[in-house]
Amino acid sequence: MASPTTAPKPTAPKRGSARKGEGQWALGYREPLNPNERSKKDDNPLNVRDRIENIYAHRGFDSIDPGDLRGRFRWYGLYTQRKPGIDGGRTATLEPEELDDEYFMLRVRVDGGALTAEQLRILGEISQTYARDTADITDRQNIQYHWIRIEDMPTIWQKLEAAGMTTMEACGDSPRVILGSPVAGIAEDEIIDGTPAIEEIKRRYVGERSFANLPRKFKTAISGQSDVAHEVHDVAFVGVNHPEHGPGFDVWVGGGLSTNPMLGKRLGAWVPRDEVPAVWAGVISVFRDYGYRRLRHRARIKFLVKDWGPEKFRQILETEYLQRPLIDGPAPEIPAAPLDHVGVHRQRDGRYYVGVAPVAGRVTGSTLVEVAKAAERAGSTRVRLTPQQKLVVLDVAEGDLETLRDDLTELGLPSTPTPWRRSVMACTGIEFCKLAIVETKARAAELVAELEQRLADVQSGITNPVSVHLNGCPNSCARIQTADIGLKGQIVTDAEGNQVEGFQVHLGGGLGMDAGFGRKLRAHKVIGTELVEYVERVVRTYLDQRTEGERFAQ
Ligand code: SF4
Repeated sequence: MASPTTAPKPTAPKRGSARKGEGQWALGYREPLNPNERSKKDDNPLNVRDRIENIYAHRGFDSIDPGDLRGRFRWYGLYTQRKPGIDGGRTATLEPEELDDEYFMLRVRVDGGALTAEQLRILGEISQTYARDTADITDRQNIQYHWIRIEDMPTIWQKLEAAGMTTMEACGDSPRVILGSPVAGIAEDEIIDGTPAIEEIKRRYVGERSFANLPRKFKTAISGQSDVAHEVHDVAFVGVNHPEHGPGFDVWVGGGLSTNPMLGKRLGAWVPRDEVPAVWAGVISVFRDYGYRRLRHRARIKFLVKDWGPEKFRQILETEYLQRPLIDGPAPEIPAAPLDHVGVHRQRDGRYYVGVAPVAGRVTGSTLVEVAKAAERAGSTRVRLTPQQKLVVLDVAEGDLETLRDDLTELGLPSTPTPWRRSVMACTGIEFCKLAIVETKARAAELVAELEQRLADVQSGITNPVSVHLNGCPNSCARIQTADIGLKGQIVTDAEGNQVEGFQVHLGGGLGMDAGFGRKLRAHKVIGTELVEYVERVVRTYLDQRTEGERFAQ
C-alpha cells in the first residue's frame, strides 16, 4: 500500500499496448518525458535555492543556467518578467529568451492570507528597497513584487525568513499557497476555523521533496465559509455541519480554470479538521502518481477527475492511500455570492474587522508600510490578504474604528468603496507577464475611475456588485470564467482593419449559488479603447431589465 508520501509500486504497462499512456507514474509510464518532466527528473527543483545563493547571486544574471531560469526558479517564486516594449501581438512569435528581462517577478506565499502587521511592514520595506516600490495583492493571497535582481535574493530571503515568511513553492509544479478565509476564527457565521489545518499542511508538506515534482501546480483552499473560490481549486475543504459528527469539512476535487475549465466535484465525504492534512496528502499523492504527465496541457488534476469521476477518485484515495473509508457527509450551504469582507464587520469577540479594496490588487510597498502603521495605531496586530485582491485589518476596537478608517482613506483605501472598486479584478498583464497579450492593471484602474463617474447615477441601485475580471491571455489568473463580465485578452481587429488589443467577452459566470462559467459568444469581442463604454452599456442593460433582486448571473 502506498503512503501519502511514497508512490505506489508502478505496474508495468501492457506489452503491445497501442496507447502511449498519459505519463501516469502509477501505471508505469515514466518515458518519454516532455521537457518539463525531464527538467524535474534531472534535478529536484528545490535544489536550485543553493545555486541561487552561492552562484547566481554572485555571478549575476548571465551566469544562470537556462533550465534553472525558465524552470526550477519557479519553485522559489521567481519568474523572469517581460522585457519592456514588446507588444502583445508578438508574444506567441518570440522564443522565451527573447521575452526574458533580467529582472524578476517574485511571489511571496501568504498561506491563508494571514500576516501580522509587522510582517506587512517588512513586506513593504522589502518592496521599497528591492522592488522599486511595487507590490500586487494577487487573487491567491500572495504578495507579488517586480523588478527583483538576482543579486538581492539572498538578502530578501533572509529578511522574509527572519519574519516567518517564505517564497518556497510559491510557483512551480508544487503545492502552491493554501487559500484560507481572511476572517478565519473571528467571523460570526463561520462553521469551523480552517487555520490549524492550513498551518499543519504547510508545516508538514511545503518543501517536502516527494511533493516537489507534481504533474503541474496544485491549488488548495480551506475555509469554514464561502470566501475562497473553493469551486475552482484542485482540492478544497469547505466548512459543513455534519448532522451526527458536527463541524468539519466537505471535500471537493478537480476544479480549475484556464482552458477546459471545470468546477470542482464533491467527493461526498466529511472530514474532521485534524484529519484534513492526511486527506490532503492523500489527494495530492493521487495526483502525483496518477496525474497525466505526458502532455503539459492535460497535466492538471481536473483531467484525471473528469475521466475517473468523483466516485472512482474517492475509491482510489480510500483504498490505496488512506487505507480506510471516509465518512459520508452533506453538501455545505453556499451563499449567493462569495464574501469579499470589504467594509466594517463585527467579529465574534465584539471587536471589528475593516476590509478595503485596492484597485485590482495594486498597492505599493510604501502603502503596505503605512497600512501596517495604521493597523498598529488602531491596536491591531493582524492583517489579511483576500482571494479578491483585498486587504483586511482585524481586531479593531469600536473606539478605534474611526481613526483607522480615516487613516486608510488617506492612503486611498476607503472602507466604503464604490461597487467598481470592489468588483473589478485584474491579473498581471503585459506590463510584466511574458504570456500576456494585453494590458490589464492600467485598464482596470481606468475602468474603475470611469465607471465611478459614468454610473454614479445608478450606483445606489447596485445591491449585488457586477464583477468584472480582466485577464491578459487565455490563462485564467483572474478567474474570468466565473465573473459576471469576464474579459480575456487577445488581439482583435478594429473597424479600420487594424490588429489591436482587445478582449473576448464571457458573460454571466459566477461562484457561490450561481457557480458556473460565463457564456463565450464567439462574435462578442471588444477592443481595448472601447472597453469602458462596453461595460457601462452592459451594466445599464442589466439594471434596466432585471427583476427585483435578480443577480447578473441568474
Ligand atoms: Fe499572465 Fe495570462 Fe496569467 Fe494574466 S492570465 S497573469 S497575462 S498568464
